Amino acid sequence: MRKTLLDSLQGPLTEAPPAPDEAGLAELAQSVDRAARAKLGRSLSIRQIDAGSCNGCELEIHALSNAFYDLERFGLRFVASPRHADVLLVTGPVTKNMREALLRTYAATPDPKWVVAVGACAADGGLFAGSYAVAGGVKDVVAVDLHIPGCPPNPRALLAGLLALLQTAA
Ligand code: SF4
Repeated sequence: MRKTLLDSLQGPLTEAPPAPDEAGLAELAQSVDRAARAKLGRSLSIRQIDAGSCNGCELEIHALSNAFYDLERFGLRFVASPRHADVLLVTGPVTKNMREALLRTYAATPDPKWVVAVGACAADGGLFAGSYAVAGGVKDVVAVDLHIPGCPPNPRALLAGLLALLQTAA
């Protein structure tokens, strides 16, 4: 017991986090903003839809708005209504309960619009594929323009995916 207590007084055993690359992040975010203004004439508005995820992908998406990433400063905005959105950012396998909600959200989003499937589950159901409660991946319900892989993808991967979408979108 004494040894355990003494051991616990030593420094943390977790790995040190990677050094922040603020300049690289700022450049990436500004590229997204420039591409959005060139394609849309305005900044990028995103409606996030959880179609049945474990919320791991949401934690990474939420991180885009924290004090470190703070992406609103670059014109990337999350909006509460699909009627104000350019991009639908969809996570998770599409559960049978959420299928109708996803279809309605897609219908409510004005053109031009893009659908981005986020994470392994959004691609094909991932860990939950084959479940009685799952309708499939996002592409099985609405047309998908881009898939961002990962379980979950980190904020930088999300941002790089959005930039790739804007650069290739017609
Ligand atoms: S891809 Fe991974 S983190 Fe995202 S919803 Fe699926 S299991 Fe969760």
